[in-house]
Amino acid sequence: MAENREIIVLKPVLKENVWGGRRLVTEFPYEAGEEHIGECWAVSAHPHGDCVIAEGTYAGKTLSWLYGEHRELFGALSAEQFPLLVKIIDAREDLSIQVHPDDVYVKEHEDCPFGKTECWYVMDCPENAQLVIGHHAQTRQELEDLIHQDKYQELIRKVPVKKGDFLQIVPGTVHAITGGMLILETQQNSDITYRVYDYGRLVDGKPRQLHVQQSIDVINVPDHADQKALSHTQGLPENSRNLLVDCDYYKVWKLSLRGSMSMEQEDPFLILSVLEGEGTVDGRKVSKGSHLLLPWGYGRLELAGKMELILSTAREDNAPGSRQ
Ligand code: ZN
Repeated sequence: MAENREIIVLKPVLKENVWGGRRLVTEFPYEAGEEHIGECWAVSAHPHGDCVIAEGTYAGKTLSWLYGEHRELFGALSAEQFPLLVKIIDAREDLSIQVHPDDVYVKEHEDCPFGKTECWYVMDCPENAQLVIGHHAQTRQELEDLIHQDKYQELIRKVPVKKGDFLQIVPGTVHAITGGMLILETQQNSDITYRVYDYGRLVDGKPRQLHVQQSIDVINVPDHADQKALSHTQGLPENSRNLLVDCDYYKVWKLSLRGSMSMEQEDPFLILSVLEGEGTVDGRKVSKGSHLLLPWGYGRLELAGKMELILSTAREDNAPGSRQ
């Protein structure tokens, strides 16, 4: 295995959203001029926000360029495009109720190679917070009726969440982030979203487009997603890579560091996202809001400090449609 010891540091892309807040610029080391910043795309090669490499050999190039030209830094991944997108979401207000299609549906209906499976780590939330996960309709006809009659309060399922909870959102699951949530999202590299309901809000004087028919096509019925979606990470062992999810597209771990530890980077690549605290990664200073990408073949790394981290990588077998 070649030794690739250069850590890739990316400049985040900040996104203005009608529902966004100010926390990404006041609590994190990110800069943006706009008033409502909803998302920080921290590790992204998506055409709507392709992160630029901040320093080192590839400074000034984008992540999509690096993935295209230097696949050796990403192991044996066969996906045509860099497969993951890691972002932090600051929801000042409720997000629209939405659903994502899977790889098979996008290949048929959209000009995009990936569907969207995503997962959320709750970095912060108000007391008694709830997220929208799944729905109560028992048949597709009932789903259609409730949507067409605007009976969203009867349709959607709300689940209580607290800081440190983790949710895996598979395609076909109705979901919504609610106001006051700060979330780290790890997702397939896709922004195909079907908006089911937007609370009748107006943006620039107009309601945002809804995708009612596509939503009815792709929503899982009946839906029991909430029973598998939610897990609690509070109280997991410190100084250990705790696996939160291992699905067809990515693996995600939580690491609560207290003091120091070392580990091996043996995945196609490894993203380290610092959610809280500060410390060092192989001597490099990192703190809340830092995201590092360690390439294939990086080998052993030393971590020190007091930090909460989410680690993520892509799965090898993520070719669209390869597994269902
Ligand atoms: Zn989503």
